[in-house]
Amino acid sequence: MDKKCICQETQRHFLNRAFERLKLKGSQRELLLSSFRETRITVPVTLRHNGENRLHTFQGYRVQHNHARGPFKGGLRFHPDVNMGEIRALAQLMTWKTALVDIPFGGAKGGVAVDPRQLNETELEELSKRFCQKMAPIIGVYDDIPAPDIGTNPQVMAWMLDEYSKTHGFRTAIVTGKPVELGGSAGRLEATGHGVAHLAHKAAAEMSLVPEQSRVVIQGFGNVGSHTAIALANKGYKIIALSDVNGGVINEAGFSIDHVLAHVNENGGLTDLPGSSPISNADLLELPCDILVPAALEATITCDNAEAIRARLIVEAANMPVTHRADARLQQRGIVIVPDLLANVGGVLASYYEWVQNLQQFPWDRELVLSRLEKRLSHAYEAVRDLARERQVDLRAAAYELAIGRVEEAIRLRGF
Ligand code: GLU
Repeated sequence: MDKKCICQETQRHFLNRAFERLKLKGSQRELLLSSFRETRITVPVTLRHNGENRLHTFQGYRVQHNHARGPFKGGLRFHPDVNMGEIRALAQLMTWKTALVDIPFGGAKGGVAVDPRQLNETELEELSKRFCQKMAPIIGVYDDIPAPDIGTNPQVMAWMLDEYSKTHGFRTAIVTGKPVELGGSAGRLEATGHGVAHLAHKAAAEMSLVPEQSRVVIQGFGNVGSHTAIALANKGYKIIALSDVNGGVINEAGFSIDHVLAHVNENGGLTDLPGSSPISNADLLELPCDILVPAALEATITCDNAEAIRARLIVEAANMPVTHRADARLQQRGIVIVPDLLANVGGVLASYYEWVQNLQQFPWDRELVLSRLEKRLSHAYEAVRDLARERQVDLRAAAYELAIGRVEEAIRLRGF
């Protein structure tokens, strides 16, 4: 089965389980599953190829899932595998995330099927601006606020802000995850990883894991994976294996994250990291460890490797890294999972703080952003954990139940 089907099937499974528990009627379920609007966007860009200019047409998408609790909110992904099915599932997930952490947003997601590493800076700027120009009629400061996701970054957001501002005036709140110089929030860049580490630490403490004796494996060393590694290392955890798209590295004694970052800055990746041995991405997932953090793409833990996973705690930094069938097997084996909609919610939470600062034209300092972030994440974690205990279910089931219940209540109160 391809990835897009796995994502949709996984999402559908978790939702149906929550719908049953919440005793929702067929009509309520249908509304919660339906996107408000699904837009397909053609993005033509002039590419330089073998010394010649050639027009290339990329396929873009923006799915606005639900806005019962506030404006649509969610990232934009630049990745070759982007397709409508995947974006639809991820847009739904954003609705549950914003509800779970109780911020006044709905859920959306977008992206372009492109490998950004194949484009030069000028081409990437043209792609970002053209995509934003074509999305402009459906986004807005109080309507839909995009943000970065896989393959996009603060620079892409800066280009989009520029494009949108040409026709709407300077509107910093139109996108979040911007560079700090253009209204971005202090702490936004590291917020997702910081939140993953904060929640990993909370869950680990409840399992009586001691940081200095806990072995951590992180799959994916992009923005989220690297900041998770930094924050966990700062708390004293032993990071024994890391990976990026080109493969992994292992050091049983634990990495010095400063050395890893210096190597990555100089060489563009983890390959040939001094003092480490190479390991494949597949083998890395199966290493015996206390905490496993999948921080790459969807569906990395499936039925094919679920039985081989030897972690005690899995913290889902990526969106949908564990399929529902794998989830059932891991739960049976007593492996604790902090689910994506809770584990990586720090990103959109910091986006909310950025949006608030932009609307008020009043920047906060990093300490304030991160302390508010931690407080709210702890609150969400405790609410999910308490519901899980009360219902005798796992954290994922409790998180979905809590989030969907809030969205359903907003729909009921608004009367549509
Ligand atoms: N792309 C991030 C996510 O999946 C952040 C979205 C946002 O900040 O709006 O949660």
